[in-house]
Amino acid sequence: MMTQRTLFSRGALLAQQVALEYSQSTVIAPSSLTRVRRTMSSTSIPPPACLLKPFETPHRYMFGPGPSNVPPRILAAGGRPVIGHMHPEMFEVMDHIKKGIQYAFQTQNKVTIAMSGSGHTAMECAIFNTLEPGDSVLIGVNGIWGERAAEIAERIGAKVNTIVKPPGGYFTNEEIEQALAKHKPVLFFLTHGESSSGVAHPIDGIGDLCFKHNCLFLVDSVASLGGLPLYMDKQGIDILYTGSQKVLNAPPGTAPISFSERACNKIFNRKTKPVSYLLDMSWLANYWGCDSKPTRVYHHTGPISGFFSLRESLAVLAEMGLENSWRRHKEVAEYLHKGLEDMGLKLFVQDKSARLPTVTTIVVPAGYDWKEIVAYTMKHHNVEIAGGLGPSAGMVLRVGLMGCNSSIASADLVLAALGDALKCCHKSKV
Ligand code: PMP
Repeated sequence: MMTQRTLFSRGALLAQQVALEYSQSTVIAPSSLTRVRRTMSSTSIPPPACLLKPFETPHRYMFGPGPSNVPPRILAAGGRPVIGHMHPEMFEVMDHIKKGIQYAFQTQNKVTIAMSGSGHTAMECAIFNTLEPGDSVLIGVNGIWGERAAEIAERIGAKVNTIVKPPGGYFTNEEIEQALAKHKPVLFFLTHGESSSGVAHPIDGIGDLCFKHNCLFLVDSVASLGGLPLYMDKQGIDILYTGSQKVLNAPPGTAPISFSERACNKIFNRKTKPVSYLLDMSWLANYWGCDSKPTRVYHHTGPISGFFSLRESLAVLAEMGLENSWRRHKEVAEYLHKGLEDMGLKLFVQDKSARLPTVTTIVVPAGYDWKEIVAYTMKHHNVEIAGGLGPSAGMVLRVGLMGCNSSIASADLVLAALGDALKCCHKSKV
C-alpha cells in the first residue's frame, strides 16, 4: 500500500524539475527576443496585456452562503503535482474520497462518488439519471433549490408536480404523504439546508413515506452537510449530494453524491439513455470503480487537483469527527443568533428548531437598503455577506459560517461588521 507521503513526494521533485525547465525555456524570454518573435508572428490578435503580468487575489472573510474560506492545508493539497486521471495512485485517492463521503453521508452505499463539477452538476446527475421522459416527480419548493430542481426535471420532459411553501417555511410529513399519494411520483426532491431561506428541513420519517409509496427520496445537502446531523442510510435517503465549497472548505468544483441500491435499480435499468453523456452514472460508476467490472475505462478527465483538495477536506472532517462538527456549528450559530438579536435584528426563520446552523437569514432591517449593507461590510471590514436569492431576494441578509469559518471569532467579526453597517448605512444618513 502506498503511503500518502511517498505517493506525492517522488512526483513533487519531478514536477518541480519539469516546471523549472519549462519556465527557463519558454516563458522568461529577454524582451528583445520577445519583440522579434512578435514581429514575425502570424497571429493578428496580440497576447492580452493583462495576462503578461501576475494576478493577485485579496484575502476576504468568506462569510456569505458560499464558497467558504479554504484553509492552507486544503489549498496545499490542491497544489500538489498533477498525475494522470487513470493512474493507480489517482484511483487510490478516489477510493479515499469515496470512503470519506461514505463517512460524511453515513452510508454504506457502493455507488458513492464525487462529481466533476459544482453542486448543480450533482443535482443534474441525480435528476437526469433517475427520471425518464414522462416520469412523475414531486418537488418540495420552499426556496430557490426546489425551483431549480423543478426546472431541471421539466427540461428532460418529466411530469413535474410541486408542493410549495413561502421562503422560511417547510413541509410536514402529512403534507408530503398526501402529495405522494396524489401524484404517485417515482422521485421526491427535498432540500435539507435551504440556503436561500435559512431553513433546515426536518428529514425524519420522510424516507419511510417514500419507500411506502414506491418513490425514491432525493436530498440536496449542499449547504448543510457536515453542519448538522444527516444519516443517509438510517433516514432512508436514496440519493444524497453535496458541494465541496461550503462546510467541507474545499474549492468549488467537485460534488459528492451517493445512490442507494433502490436508486441503482432504477437508474441502471432505464428504458432510455440519460440525456447527458457526461453525467451518465453507468459511465461514472465505472470511472469510480463502483461497478463490478474488472477495469475502469476512460470516460472524462476528472479535476485531479480538485479531487486532491476534496480528499484533504474529507480528511479534516474525519479527524474532527462529524458529531464535533455538528456541535460546533450549532454552538456558533446560537452565539451568532443571540448577538444579532441583541443588536435589534430579527431572524427570518421563525421556528427556532428549523434554523440552519450553516446559513443564517436576517430580515432586512426597516429603513435600510440590503445592497448597501452588503457593500459596506465588504468595503470596510473585508467581510462577505449576501442578500437573498430567488424567492428571498430583497427580504433577507445571509450569513454563512461553515467549516473552518464556524468559530466564535468569525461570528464576532460578522457582528462587528454588521453593527458598524447599521450605524453608517441608515437611509436617513444618505
Ligand atoms: N443547493 C444548495 C442548497 C446550495 O446552497 C447551492 C449553492 N449555493 C447549490 C445547490 C448549487 O451549488 P453550486 O453553486 O455549487 O452549483
